[in-house]
Formats: sequence, structure tokens, C-alpha cells
Amino acid sequence: MDATETAGAVPGPDDPDFPAHHAPGCTALADLDALLTGCRACPRLVAWREEAAAVKRAAFRDRDYWARPVPGLGPSDAAVAVVGLAPAAHGGNRTGRMFTGDATGDFLFAALHTVGLASQPASSHAGDGLTLHGVRLTSPVHCAPPANRPTPGERDTCRPWLAAELDLLSPGLRAVVVLGGFGWQALLPVLAEAGWSVPRPRPAFGHGAHVVLPATERRQELHLLGSYHPSQRNTFTGRLTMPMLVDVLREAAAVGGLPAV
Ligand code: SF4
Repeated sequence: MDATETAGAVPGPDDPDFPAHHAPGCTALADLDALLTGCRACPRLVAWREEAAAVKRAAFRDRDYWARPVPGLGPSDAAVAVVGLAPAAHGGNRTGRMFTGDATGDFLFAALHTVGLASQPASSHAGDGLTLHGVRLTSPVHCAPPANRPTPGERDTCRPWLAAELDLLSPGLRAVVVLGGFGWQALLPVLAEAGWSVPRPRPAFGHGAHVVLPATERRQELHLLGSYHPSQRNTFTGRLTMPMLVDVLREAAAVGGLPAV
């Protein structure tokens, strides 16, 4: 085998195998986040995130967009993870920070702040001083998808990043709040593959769902809680109200041993 073949054996950022090859070897969240932000494994999403940055929304015409994968946000010893869907084209894809820069994020951060898990109720840009207390925000897909709908193939390609992130969080992780059915469906196989005991048939998603995954040889007990996604479609119609989301986050904080208010 010559040097060219040897170099070709390691998937580069444009290779669909890039996440699966590199994510499991990360031993720190900072390393994972750094690798993740260079990922270009999904051609459709790479094109979309970059097109959104080139065309821009009128209100952000003078802003530079991040236009790359958006890493998780929050401390590496978080007891609670909040798992959404994917960054929004003009929200996280613009600001480079999970859930930051759009109405969905405003709703979520207001709820987190009410419970005492965020330092401020609003988040506008990556340098706005926001910090999270004991909670990490992440998603099964890290690039903005057209119409907020990643394909099953894109979800599966991105899965190793979430699996590795949860593995690195696992020593202190006690609860996961899942925002919406897509995140729920994406998360369960990740948890099962990572050694958590996920019941069969798999628990159904619903707002207020609360499933306890028992401890195994490899994993501690984990509480899985469901909430409707704080998308504008849900919040404008009243399907998800602020008290509903606050209640779920407060329950997660309680089982996670966090000092919620
Ligand atoms: S969605 Fe995930 S796997 Fe696909 S390009 Fe973005 S970070 Fe990479």
C-alpha cells in the first residue's frame, strides 16, 4: 500500500463516514466540538447551510453567518441534556450557538432561566454572556436542514456525534429532555447502542412522557422526559405553553439533582 492509499483510508470531512470514524475517538467535549464544526458529511445540508448564509434574511443582511455545524452548548459535567431537532437556518446556523438567535431559542432560554438553569432569559448572539447551569443543549442533527426536516439518512450520518457526546456526558448525566418526536425517535437507538437499557417496545413520545432507563453494567439510571418542541408552530398555537415547558424542565432538574427554582 502506498502513501496515497494510506492517507485515503482516513475519511475526510466530506466523507459520509467522517462522523462514524472520528467521533468515537474523542476523549473530551472540546475535541468533539472542534471536529464536529469541520464536518461536511451531508452534501444537501452543507449546501443549504451555506446558501442560507449567502442569501441571508433581510433582518440579518449585515451579519456574517456561521454556516457550519453547530456544536452542543453547556458544561461538560451537565446532569441534564436537552435534545432538540437541528439548528435553524437563520438561528443557530447564523449565530453558531445552539438555539441562539430565533424565537424558538428565546422561548427555551426563557424557560431555562425561569427554572434557574440559564443565567439570562434571552440569547441573541454567541457573545451575549449567557451561561447554562448543569444543562447541555444539543441535537441529533447539527446542520440546518431545508424546511427543518433532515432526512433519515442525514440523521443516521450525524448520529455518531450525538452518541459520542452522550458517552462523554454519561458519568454525570441523569436526565435527558427531548424536544419533539423527531428527537425522541433519533435518541432512543443512540441510547440503546451506547449501553443504556431502552425498553421494547420502545416508549412512545408525548408531552410529559417520563421513562426511567434502569442502570446497567455500563450506565447509570437515566430519566427520559418528553416535551413538545418550542417551535413557533407549537408556541403560537398554544400547543406548548411556557408553564408546560417549565414544568418538564423543573422535573428534569429535580431528578438530575440540580438546584432548580
Ligand atoms: S448534519 Fe451532522 S453529519 Fe451532516 S454535515 Fe452536519 S455535522 Fe456533519
